[in-house]
Amino acid sequence: MTIQQLVAKIKEKKPNADTKIIEQAYEFAKKAHDGQKRKSGEDFIAHPLNVAYTLADLNIDETAICAALLHDTVEDTEVGPDEIKKEFGTETACLVKGVTKLKKIKYSLQKNNAKDLQKLFFVMAKDIRAALIKLADRMHNMETLEYMDNAQKKEKALETMDIYAPIADRLGMGEMKGRLEDLAFPYLFPKDYERVQNLIKEKHDKRQEYLKKVTAVLKETMEKEKIKIIDIHSRPKHLFSLYKKLLRYNWDITKVYDLVAVRIIVESIKDCYEALGIIHKHWRPLPGYIKDFIAVPKLNGYKSLHTTVFCLEGKILEIQIRTPLMHKEAEFGIAAHWAYSEQQYSKKYIKDKITSPSRTK
Ligand code: MN
Repeated sequence: MTIQQLVAKIKEKKPNADTKIIEQAYEFAKKAHDGQKRKSGEDFIAHPLNVAYTLADLNIDETAICAALLHDTVEDTEVGPDEIKKEFGTETACLVKGVTKLKKIKYSLQKNNAKDLQKLFFVMAKDIRAALIKLADRMHNMETLEYMDNAQKKEKALETMDIYAPIADRLGMGEMKGRLEDLAFPYLFPKDYERVQNLIKEKHDKRQEYLKKVTAVLKETMEKEKIKIIDIHSRPKHLFSLYKKLLRYNWDITKVYDLVAVRIIVESIKDCYEALGIIHKHWRPLPGYIKDFIAVPKLNGYKSLHTTVFCLEGKILEIQIRTPLMHKEAEFGIAAHWAYSEQQYSKKYIKDKITSPSRTK
């Protein structure tokens, strides 16, 4: 990861972004961390750069990206909060302070206090951007966990599984939640992780070929019926979520119908329902598997139509239908609202998240 890549990512998302301040924050952090190394042997600056990149990819604003670059300076270097305030302003300094505070949340297995810590996390992260920086920070630390000693591996993996992934879930960040769980999975259940991997490897190529065929037929069918498809793709299930399902089905992978799901993105809610009708006209749905998360969203706000049908060659396949906005929200959660500059809305959203019961699956 380089500063050039980070700047390019920001420009890609927001062509008019002021990246000068980003480069200043980078230089500042690089100087502050000078001589420090990560356990991987890389220069320390690689870490804040990675964290900043994740935020840029989520399309979070420049202030938060600056804070991401600076997030470890107060804790790990000679730099004081006042210096950050002087160089980068109150907002950035507050964010860095927020992230530093969140570091103090420590999970204790004995106390079994995961739920309390999740709540504490939200209360402490007064600015939701601090929470997002912390999640991105945890993700990069998990990606480089192999360089830590065994005790640290277990501790961080457990913390990620019990605190950070559920927080990402509460924020509606499905992709982040899935990635965090999948990063922790091999450290917590190494044998089972391997078993799951072997199970899905087996028929991978055949599955890809099949999905190609299905996608082509779906496109053609929708075209005939005058439904405009904005995007169609398949998504493999995240490994940990597949694992949880396998445990319920006694490791019988043939009972997992959403190993891969096909996603259709259409223009409007009306088109979602029409597309569902068209699919059911061609392929018989499995009773009990039609789910209308548009009329009744999941507690974390997730919206989509799901159906599982006897598709081509009689094979069982899950199909998900949603609009572009629903898709953004499902992947990025609160960050999607940030990207849409609906900060008012995202403030209400976070308030609801703290007061609502956690999602039961
Ligand atoms: Mn960090």
